Amino acid sequence: MSGNADIYHEMIVDYSRNPTNYGKLEDHDVIFHDSNPLCGDSIDIAMKIDDNKVTDIKFDGKGCAICMACSSVLTEITKGKSLDDVRKIEKNDILGELGLEHLQAVRIKCALLSLKVLKSALYTYLADHLDDAQDVDRLKEDAANLY
Ligand SMILES: [Zn+2]
Repeated sequence: MSGNADIYHEMIVDYSRNPTNYGKLEDHDVIFHDSNPLCGDSIDIAMKIDDNKVTDIKFDGKGCAICMACSSVLTEITKGKSLDDVRKIEKNDILGELGLEHLQAVRIKCALLSLKVLKSALYTYLADHLDDAQDVDRLKEDAANLY
């Protein structure tokens, strides 16, 4: 077990030093910002969306190692997915990738900030492009009830 913990720890450190999909995406269709004041994490996620698919995604901002690692993993998972599949991304998809399923409550916000921002960006986009208001409300609720 401790061997795995070491690997996960290394992954988190690597990602925080060299985050993937990090930077500004000038040509985006939607961008959203949120922060986690408890820790000081503060990120934007920008997406380019074509034919209901996320063709490009980048995150920008600053955060602790866990926040940076989870944002990297989340953008990797999201890139190339249809909006329907993006909606289905759950917290354990990210936490599991980095061995963070048993994080303390305080750090969960660091880990899930990116997912919250992603879901918020998605409903912002869909609110402009969908006629079904109920559907958008459900998405909003998803984002609000993450942690
Ligand atoms: Zn943090």
